Amino acid sequence: MEKGDIYPRVKCVVDTCTHYVAGDYCSARNIDIMHEEEGHMSQIIEQTMCKTFAQASSFANMLGSMDNVNWGGAASKLFTGGDMYPTVMCTVHSCEYWKDGNHCIAEAIEVTGRHANECQDTNCQTYRNKESQ
Ligand code: SF4
Ligand code: SF4
Repeated sequence: MEKGDIYPRVKCVVDTCTHYVAGDYCSARNIDIMHEEEGHMSQIIEQTMCKTFAQASSFANMLGSMDNVNWGGAASKLFTGGDMYPTVMCTVHSCEYWKDGNHCIAEAIEVTGRHANECQDTNCQTYRNKESQ
């Protein structure tokens, strides 16, 4: 991650994640979007996932997630009502928006998978297969 890098705005509806904040925000400092299956690059939305998902009902996950919290964003949201977004690193290089350095150049992405139990239940809904464009 370099100073000056630009990241997409993140909307996330995964309300079972420890990083989820009401209003469909993500309080993580950084999220990793990845292909779901080892050795098989995503070809469709369902084969992508937010690897940073951590189930909120697990106390161990809550503790483990503490070092990946966007404290500045959270404070700004709390005190000024501003927006809060994580940085995004993505390894899904079959996506139209993927760029060298594991960057995503989309203006905004949406992470879906309401009620997810594991990261494989989540998706980057903004994924677009560059081969099919
Ligand atoms: S699933 Fe990913 S984008 Fe959504 S709140 Fe959790 S870490 Fe953030
Ligand atoms: S839109 Fe594409 S490049 Fe951006 S995070 Fe989603 S899968 Fe990765």
